[in-house]
Amino acid sequence: MVYDTFARPLRNVRLSVTDRCNLRCSYCMPEQEYVWLPREDILQFEEIDRLVDLFLGMGVDKVRITGGEPLLRRSLPDLVRRLAVKPRLRDLAMTTNGVLLAPAAADLREAGLHRLTVSLDTLQRDRFMALTRSDEIERVLDGVAAAAPLFPGLKLDTVVMRGVNDDEIVPLVEYARTHGAEIRFIEYMDVGGATRWSADRVVPRTEMLDALTRHYGPIDPVPEDSSAPADRFRLPDGTVFGIISSTTQPFCAQCDRSRLTADGLWYLCLYATDGLDLRGPLRAGASADALEALVAERWSSRADRGAEVRLADQDRALIPLSSLRQDPHLEMHTRGG
Ligand code: SAM
Ligand code: SF4
Ligand code: SF4
Repeated sequence: MVYDTFARPLRNVRLSVTDRCNLRCSYCMPEQEYVWLPREDILQFEEIDRLVDLFLGMGVDKVRITGGEPLLRRSLPDLVRRLAVKPRLRDLAMTTNGVLLAPAAADLREAGLHRLTVSLDTLQRDRFMALTRSDEIERVLDGVAAAAPLFPGLKLDTVVMRGVNDDEIVPLVEYARTHGAEIRFIEYMDVGGATRWSADRVVPRTEMLDALTRHYGPIDPVPEDSSAPADRFRLPDGTVFGIISSTTQPFCAQCDRSRLTADGLWYLCLYATDGLDLRGPLRAGASADALEALVAERWSSRADRGAEVRLADQDRALIPLSSLRQDPHLEMHTRGG
């Protein structure tokens, strides 16, 4: 196991398999044009497999497949099948926007995917269109319906934005409940690519809890000993939901997550501006030991606590569009959320 400068272990890799997306969520991809990663740089499944083996050998036991939209990656169940058989991989999960999920859910389950999260910000068609610039809500809801029986403990992730969907917290809890899913409400983050972010658009966790308490009655925290980003709560009827308060109450102190982009750059924080190029040495024939030394050296000097630093920063200046265009790795949709 390798530890960083705050004694945080490297346990968790978010694996982006593509920077492409079939939605344009306003909090993630609000622009008209994007600069994409060159196709020849995108890691092949064999290359991803080797890097995952490397991480597993260093103590990682959780991998989450993400994107862009991971289901746009051709033959994704083949990658899942390769990863799912690795004995050291305790948890293999995926986050998807759900558009392509209904026809893929059974294959993903059969390939061995353990857990699934679907991002869903609204139940209203017009709102979905305004939020994502796409008329796909039916396909997403079909995807949730298809996946829920196959993936017990299915999670739904909702980014809550003031004046956009903050009046849907209760309907979304009810919707999740009908599918036996657990909903998690995420505070709007000022990550790279969120070029429309403003502090007044953030609905803080305290406000979400107040709204839910007004509707359902007293809410109890669910005590947990984990590095998972969501704090979980229980409604009086036993329904459990989560809040990921990355903006107002960041959880950097326990953060064991890293991110591998689809072209093999490894980032140690959602807000990090530099990543370690693993594709270059991998394609140049570096040995497993040499790659491991690179990764260990980088993690052991990790001092990132991006969201805490942002919270303390009065200005909270966003990354300018020109910089995002120059380096698309700074974008949330490239580094996988
Ligand atoms: N396309 C897939 C999806 O949307 O589920 C996976 C990639 S997406 C980048 C991963 C997660 O990042 C999604 O749940 C999305 O809601 C979240 N996300 C993106 N931008 C965000 C922002 N500005 N604040 C909070 N969460 C954000
Ligand atoms: Fe939305 Fe995910 Fe696509 Fe970003 S990557 S635009 S969050 S669906
Ligand atoms: Fe981890 Fe960086 Fe997110 Fe903090 S901001 S929880 S250090 S990824």
